[in-house]
Order: sequence, then C-alpha cells, then structure tokens
Amino acid sequence: MDAADLDAFLAKAAEFLESNASRREVRGEWGVGSDVLAAYAKVSEEVEAQRIADARQWKALEFDQGFGWITGPPELGGRGLAPEHERGYLELRADYDIPTLSVYTISLGMVAPAFEQYGSEEVRNLVPKLWRGDLIGCQLFSEPTNGSDVAGLITRARRDGDEWVIDGQKVWTSVAQHSQWGLLLTRSNPDAPKHSGITAFALDMSAPGVEVRPLVMITGGTEFNEVFLNQVRVPDNYRLGEVDQGWKVAISTLMNERALGAGGADLFGVNQALLRLRMTIQQVGASGNPLVRNEYARLYSMAETIRYQAQAADERRRAGMPPGPAESVFKLANTNTLTQIASLGLQLCGGAGVADTGEWGKYAWAELVLMGAGMRIAGGTDEVMRNILAERVLGLPKEPS
Ligand SMILES: Cc1cc2nc3c(=O)[nH]c(=O)nc-3n(C[C@H](O)[C@H](O)[C@H](O)COP(=O)(O)OP(=O)(O)OC[C@H]3O[C@@H](n4cnc5c(N)ncnc54)[C@H](O)[C@@H]3O)c2cc1C
Repeated sequence: MDAADLDAFLAKAAEFLESNASRREVRGEWGVGSDVLAAYAKVSEEVEAQRIADARQWKALEFDQGFGWITGPPELGGRGLAPEHERGYLELRADYDIPTLSVYTISLGMVAPAFEQYGSEEVRNLVPKLWRGDLIGCQLFSEPTNGSDVAGLITRARRDGDEWVIDGQKVWTSVAQHSQWGLLLTRSNPDAPKHSGITAFALDMSAPGVEVRPLVMITGGTEFNEVFLNQVRVPDNYRLGEVDQGWKVAISTLMNERALGAGGADLFGVNQALLRLRMTIQQVGASGNPLVRNEYARLYSMAETIRYQAQAADERRRAGMPPGPAESVFKLANTNTLTQIASLGLQLCGGAGVADTGEWGKYAWAELVLMGAGMRIAGGTDEVMRNILAERVLGLPKEPS
C-alpha cells in the first residue's frame, strides 16, 4: 500500500461521510445535544429500540458503500484493505454525528471473527450479514460459577447423531436480548482436562429452549442478560472448530476482545470523556486551578500513550501477527484512564454530579463512574489482565496455584 492509495481512500471516505452524516459542529459546546457519557446508562425501551434501528440503518449504509468492513476479505464482502485504512476512516468518522453503534461491539469484535475463522460454510455465510449489521451476535462464555476461569465452564453439550443437545446457563451476556446469533462455549467432554473438553458453537438465539432474561445493572441500564439453555438442539454444522478443541476458539476470541481498545474507534469512550472533561473544567471555572490543569495534562498524556500504542499494534497486525497477550494492556489502560477521567469529572461537579438535578452534563459523570466499575470487570477483570501481562508478556513468575 502506498500513501497515495490511502489518501485516495480517505478522500472517498470523507465524501461518503459528508453526504450521509452531519459534522459534529457542537463538539466542545456545553449544554448542546445529549449529555450521556456511559454506554450502559438507563434509557427507556422506546429510546433503546430507536437507537438500535438507527444503528442498523447506518451499518447497512456504511457496508453498502464499502466502509463497513474495510479490512475484511473481498470474497466475504470486505474491502481487503489495511488497518491504516480502517483507522483513518474511524478517525474521520469520529467528527460526524452518527448513531451509537455499541450494540455491534461484541458482534463485530468477537463473534464475526470467530465465525469467519472457525465456522462451516453455512456459518461463514452469516459473516457478511453480521458486518452489514443485519444480524447481531453475542458472546456466551461466562457462567454463574465461572467468569475469570472461562475454562471451568459446565454448560453441557451431548452429541445426538448430527445434532448436539445443550443444557446449562450463561450470565452477563451483553446484548443477548438483541442478538440473533451467539458464540457459545460448552463442555463436551467432562472427563478430559478442563481446557481439552470444550466445544464451541454458533447458536441460533431463536432455537427452542433458549431463554434470555435481562439483568438490571448498577447504572439502571439493561445491557446484559442471563441466558438459559434447556435441551437446545444445535446442528453439528454450527460447530466452530474441532470437537473438544473449543479452547482455541475461546482464546482467539478473548485476544480479539482485549485488543478492541487498540482500534481507532474510541470504543471505550476515552477521547469523548476527555473532551467532556475539558468542557466541565471550563464550565465550573476551574481552568486556572494548577492541580486541575496538572491532572488534566496527566490524563491527556495517558490517552495519547494509548493512541501511540495502538499504532504499534496496527504495525503488528500488518506484519501478520494476530492479537496476543500484550494486547491486554489496551483493556487495562483504557478502563483505567476512563475511570480516572470520570472520577475527576465527578469531583468537579460536586453535588450536581452525585444527584441528578437535571442540569446538563453533570450527573452524566456519576453514570460514567458507575459504568467504569463494570468495564473493569467485563472482558477480563483488571486483576486477570495484570496476571496476563505479568506472566505472559513480562515473564514474571506465575502465581501459586
Ligand atoms: C458490563 C459487563 C458485560 C459483560 N459482558 C459479557 C458477555 O457479553 N459475555 C460473557 O460471557 N461475559 C460477559 N461479562 C462477564 C465478565 O467476563 C465476567 O464478569 C468476568 O470475566 C469476571 O468473572 P466473574 O464475574 O465470574 O468474577 P470472578 O471470576 O469470580 O472474579 C471475582 C474476583 O476475583 C478476582 N480474580 C479471579 N481470578 C483471579 C486470579 N487468577 N488472580 C487474581 N484475581 C482473580 C477477579 O479479578 C474479581 O475481582 C460481562 C461483565 C460485565 C461487568
């Protein structure tokens, strides 16, 4: 790829965005537009339904115009371009007011790559529909007794001819209530060592025996769910990878999950929160306070460091290296930075930050603080990320088992 190709691509991307979305003229203006910062904030059912309809419409348009799956293989409907093209597009897009796309984060970050890499032809045929946003996928890993220890899962899969029969329960499943497909891990061989007896499947969420029950989060939102699986029959054709080799699928999915923060889409909302922090500092008249200035500069530097590290991750991807344990640093650094930004924002707003007085932009900080607690757990807790970095990247001694 040469620089001219990239420039030509970005010029086309700018044209597409200019004709289909309006610029965020109001970026940086206090009191204008929605003040919500937390992706899991409480919203009414009508607002949620409208959000998803808007997101669907945008994803279809983006895909049909060639900007929906920039790095994907052309035979599946992707553009076959490099990560720089994707990052460049996402950076341009950040200046436009487009629908919130968080309902697709897991679907595109984890489910679609697993279906593409490990699925039968029938499952791989779903991949373009996931990227176009026609379908949404969820990740069915965690169980009531196994979260950090994913390999300890007990949801059972028993083979019955050309089908499998699944019984068990998953929990904390984000967007399951909006999903048509799930990436499911099951225990297919209880006698094998725990990492060797797992089989992964693409699960049709409308199959008889799948029951989804939303859970209320600390923010009041209902982003995640319990999923009950009662005698669910899954064709063997929906198996992902080999029988009893589902740990491979799990590991590559978890690596993709932890690498999400390396994308250029500000998926964790760090840049958005930083911008709002600057606005809040000005709004409460703290711009001249040296302690606040110092703290803002420190947080800004953390966000910039993540951005440069993400560029290094792009280089690794371009060199053909799949995401590895080092990518855990993105999950840790993004959530760490976000929670520190939220904490300063909340302190600056005093009482109006803690109690919802209806004042624009202030209580949004409390919602972000609450959401931050969930983000430090979701996709691998801080402690687990630190273990991975310590043991698998830095080569420090393993903790005693
Ligand atoms: C907002 C949100 C969305 C989520 N979405 C999904 C989803 O879509 N799909 C899905 O499958 N799951 C999802 N999860 C679940 C998430 O992956 C788990 O909650 C997480 O892995 C932790 O598992 P656990 O809750 O069972 O806690 P546990 O594993 O029981 O951990 C409890 C505590 O022990 C600590 N701990 C555990 N093991 C170690 C260790 N070896 N060393 C040091 N400390 C340790 C943990 O850090 C934690 O503080 C979501 C969670 C949240 C909060």
